[in-house]
Order: sequence, then C-alpha cells, then structure tokens
Amino acid sequence: MSEHTTTAPIPTLEIKNLVVEYRTEDGIVHAVNGLDLRIEKGKTLGLVGETGAGKTTTGLAILRLVAQPPGVIVDGSIHLNGENLLMKSEKEMEKIRGKQVSMIFQDPMTSLNPVTRVEDQIAEVIELHEHLSWNESLAKARDMLELVGIPGERGVDYPHQFSGGMKQRVVIAIALACSPQLLISDEPTTALDVTIQAQVLQLMKNLREKYQMSMLMITHDLGIVVEICDLVSIMYAGRVVEHGSLEDIFNNTRHPYTEGLFNSLPNLEDRKAKLKPIKGLMPDPSNLPPGCAFCPRCDYAMEICHTDKPGKVYRTEDHFVECHLYSEQNIGEKVIGK
Ligand code: SF4
Repeated sequence: MSEHTTTAPIPTLEIKNLVVEYRTEDGIVHAVNGLDLRIEKGKTLGLVGETGAGKTTTGLAILRLVAQPPGVIVDGSIHLNGENLLMKSEKEMEKIRGKQVSMIFQDPMTSLNPVTRVEDQIAEVIELHEHLSWNESLAKARDMLELVGIPGERGVDYPHQFSGGMKQRVVIAIALACSPQLLISDEPTTALDVTIQAQVLQLMKNLREKYQMSMLMITHDLGIVVEICDLVSIMYAGRVVEHGSLEDIFNNTRHPYTEGLFNSLPNLEDRKAKLKPIKGLMPDPSNLPPGCAFCPRCDYAMEICHTDKPGKVYRTEDHFVECHLYSEQNIGEKVIGK
C-alpha cells in the first residue's frame, strides 16, 4: 500500500512580518510595519493604497534595494521560491535581480539610459544573466522588442526617439528579458494616456500567460486591479489591512478604508453623484497613532481603536481584515457602508 503525502506548493513570494524603517535626522519613519504577503505561481497580487502607504518600499525591499542608510530592514523574511532573500549576500542578489525578479517603475526614463541604444540596454541584461555572446544577446534583445510590439529594427534607436508608451514597452522587454519568476510593477501605467495604459496592461497580461510568471502590481488604481489581479492586498500605513480575492475585496468589503477607496471612485451609473474622498490624510509615518492607524479618518472608530492595534480576523481562509469592528464570530455580515 502506497502512502500519499501532499505537500503544499512553494509560493513564488512569501513575505512575513516585514518591518522597514528610514532612520532620518528628524526621527524614524515607520514605512512598513509587519507586512505579510503571499503570491502563488502564476498569480497576480494587487498591492493597493494611497501614496505613502509603504507600497514602493515593499517592492524595493524584495529586491533589497531599500537605500541603506537611511533605510533598514529591521525584521521579517522575504522568501522567493523558498529562499530567504534577506539572508543573501549582495553578490548573490546581483544574480537574482533581473533573472529571478524584476521591477518596472512608473517613469520609464528612470529605468532607461538616455545615451544607450535600446537594444544594447536589453542585450546587456541578457548577456549578464544568460552568459550568451554579445551577438546572441543582441539577437534575443530584438526578439524581445518584437514580443512587446516594437519592430526589432528600432532597437538601434535611443529612448528619446520613442513615445511614452513605447518606452514603457522597452522597460517591460528589459524586465522580462531573462524570464523572471516574479515581476514587480510599480504604477507601471500611471504616466501614460488612458488608451496607451490599456494597451500596456493587455501586453502585461499576455506576457504573464506566456511566461507563467507571478506579478506584484503596486497601484493606487482599483480599475487596474480589476483588469489584471487575482488577489488584492489593501495597504495602509505600512500594513495590509484587508486581503482577499478580487471577489472578496469588491463584493465582500470589510475594512472601512477599503470602503473609502471604493467610495472615492467615480460612479459610472450615476454620473452626477459626487465623489466621496476619504477625509483627512495618511498619518505621519514617523508618528503613527498608538491604536489603529486609520482611526483619525474612520467614521466607525470606537474607544478601543484609539488604544489597541487590531489583529487579523479571517472571514474565509483567504480573506482577512484588521479592524476592531469584526471578530471571528462576527465577520459574516458587512457592518460598514449600510
Ligand atoms: Fe475604524 Fe476602528 Fe476599524 Fe480602525 S479598527 S478601521 S478605527 S473601526
């Protein structure tokens, strides 16, 4: 009789209790405060929140590119395919960046070298990681350009000869040149026109299928989340305050902050309806409130919210919320937005 043991597949990315600080002359900026994230192979997770929530710092921490000093990864673990990146030497990280994990930034010009032909910029990454000859790397670079919808012969051009959308395609070609298992995209379409945005998103979706890669999509735009994400983590003041599937977050919203993000979106059915922005501002990360960080802006705040930090409460195995309105016995019903 044979024994069957089932072991859970190793996720592409698993972050546990990540804490990142910036130690400045004016005090300690608490950018990421005990963050947990998990992305399975081939899945896309949207990391959503306002500016200053700690989203970009999280992306940079995965690549171990948090500027040191003043940035310090104080605690936690970041496992990529089962290996803790926080235990790697800088030399080992150089081999991992671009090969196993790549990042695309909002402004393509921050990633492109203005005085180098675009095919050379792609080929450099290929030559470094795949140990091909320069001519082979150049040939693959032109193939990558074709893959992102740019004729290979345009590879001899410089970045300024491309439009914004085309430049972002070049950046995507560089990021995917060595078929990384994880692609981190930080607001990749924010700087583009709406129609170009849609094309770039479609391209990313197609490439995700082709390469079977996992994606971490950092965005403030819930429209993009609907387009491309399987899972959503809502981030506030350096923590994930609600996490679930697209369906959970959109149809079974539990956290008042998530509700606030939805209420601040334009209503297409009632075009005259006024936008309801979330009142107030994100708290100063160098001076976070002692209890729930959302407390000063929350319409549902109770006494306990001012003093105690809420812990995770699970509605389902995959959907959790950090909010004192809920307990394990009382999370079936939505108590906000009624
Ligand atoms: Fe609002 Fe309290 Fe929930 Fe924070 S814990 S979101 S203050 S109800």
